[in-house]
Amino acid sequence: MDFALSPRSLELRDRLLAFMEEEVYPAEPVATEQMRASGDPHHHPEVLEHLKDEAKRRGLWNLFLPHVTEWTPEPVSNVDYAPLAEITGRSFLGPEAVNSAAPDTGNMEILSLFGTPAQKERWLVPLLDGEIRSCFAMTEPDVASSDAKNIQLEIRRDGDEYVLDGRKWWISGAANHRTRVAIVMGKTDPAAPTYNQQSMVLVPMDTPGLTVVRDLMVFGYNDREGHCELRFDDVRVPATNLLGQEGGGFAMAQARLGPGRIHHCMRCIGIAERALDLMCRRVTRRVAFGKPLAEQGVIQEWIADSRIEIEQARLLTLKTAWLMDTVGNKGARIEISAIKVVAPNMALRVVDRAMQAHGGAGVSQDTPLAAMWASLRTLRFADGPDEVHRMQLARRELQPYVAAATGTPADGRA
Ligand SMILES: Cc1cc2nc3c(=O)[nH]c(=O)nc-3n(C[C@H](O)[C@H](O)[C@H](O)COP(=O)(O)OP(=O)(O)OC[C@H]3O[C@@H](n4cnc5c(N)ncnc54)[C@H](O)[C@@H]3O)c2cc1C
Repeated sequence: MDFALSPRSLELRDRLLAFMEEEVYPAEPVATEQMRASGDPHHHPEVLEHLKDEAKRRGLWNLFLPHVTEWTPEPVSNVDYAPLAEITGRSFLGPEAVNSAAPDTGNMEILSLFGTPAQKERWLVPLLDGEIRSCFAMTEPDVASSDAKNIQLEIRRDGDEYVLDGRKWWISGAANHRTRVAIVMGKTDPAAPTYNQQSMVLVPMDTPGLTVVRDLMVFGYNDREGHCELRFDDVRVPATNLLGQEGGGFAMAQARLGPGRIHHCMRCIGIAERALDLMCRRVTRRVAFGKPLAEQGVIQEWIADSRIEIEQARLLTLKTAWLMDTVGNKGARIEISAIKVVAPNMALRVVDRAMQAHGGAGVSQDTPLAAMWASLRTLRFADGPDEVHRMQLARRELQPYVAAATGTPADGRA
């Protein structure tokens, strides 16, 4: 593969870097103060609307959709998007400022691929405009949800309606005041073959019977988006709210999760870059035992290892993005699993070193490091735990050996 960035990616990158320097970083303390003054952990800081208007004006909007739609006639490829998502990931405001925040990106992607014209009109258009937000509800408190086959929420057809009963939790975005719709995964036919039991339906957040029970904290933090427990009691939506085919939920989840996972990884690299930058600034100014910390061999080792690990993760991310562009998301799924293990763990190590180099300040609210660490740590579960991704990788690696040992044909890729 060619590792050079295309002229288009380079040009967008330059404009995005300028946007971050001129608008996004200066807005961070403003947003934090607006949140604090509101007294509401889910407040939408007003400065974000200014950033969104500015991003639209600068042509830095909806860059994440890699296929042609009526809204993205000249889409940015996954390879070209990787350095851009990385840059937005450096700030907690970056992804939303350019309308490329999780979980909306994955939701917009499946709506654009599988939505009916009416569903697109009602939900996709306002999401692409940044007017509303959305959430994706798959995980359930009562079953091990890293195995999506376990999902139990009931989706029952009743005349012209679907009726939903069950519980979900860790639903990101459900506490956000701007979230208007949930894409809910559940079982329409528990008797069908394993991978055809699940379907997805669109549920407006104000549907009677849908209750946001509570917002779960992450290491004591209330995320602005909220990660909520939801209850569905006889929740009724029109049958036209079915997304794609009945029984097609599993396949759509796969289509959604691949791009969503690599986007997380791209942003992780941006987080790691920012942490390394903070560490380098700190250790060149802080003096202990008669010399700047930067002159200590151990600190130099942290800096060198961080640079090496960031570059390694970036290269695997780019290779994965290139495979998605050339052989499709399905063909790249093993590499997506690999990078989903590598990037959050790498960024956690870099942030941890940066915290250590900052001393007590590293775990305080005076740097973004503690919040970065908490959010990165959750990525070792969210969108599939490390162990499940490693299981997929190991299965693929073992496949020819198992085939040889058992005399069954190996088909190459798992
Ligand atoms: C901050 C945050 C945000 C989230 N956002 C969303 C969201 O928006 N929507 C949504 O639907 N879900 C969301 N999730 C849920 C997340 O996707 C799940 O937590 C994850 O899929 C794991 O499911 P589980 O919690 O049921 O863990 P379980 O399935 O109970 O697994 C527990 C542990 O078992 C181990 N394990 C599982 N399988 C294997 C295996 N094959 N081999 C070895 N060990 C294994 C792993 O260590 C795993 O962590 C979020 C989670 C967090 C923390």
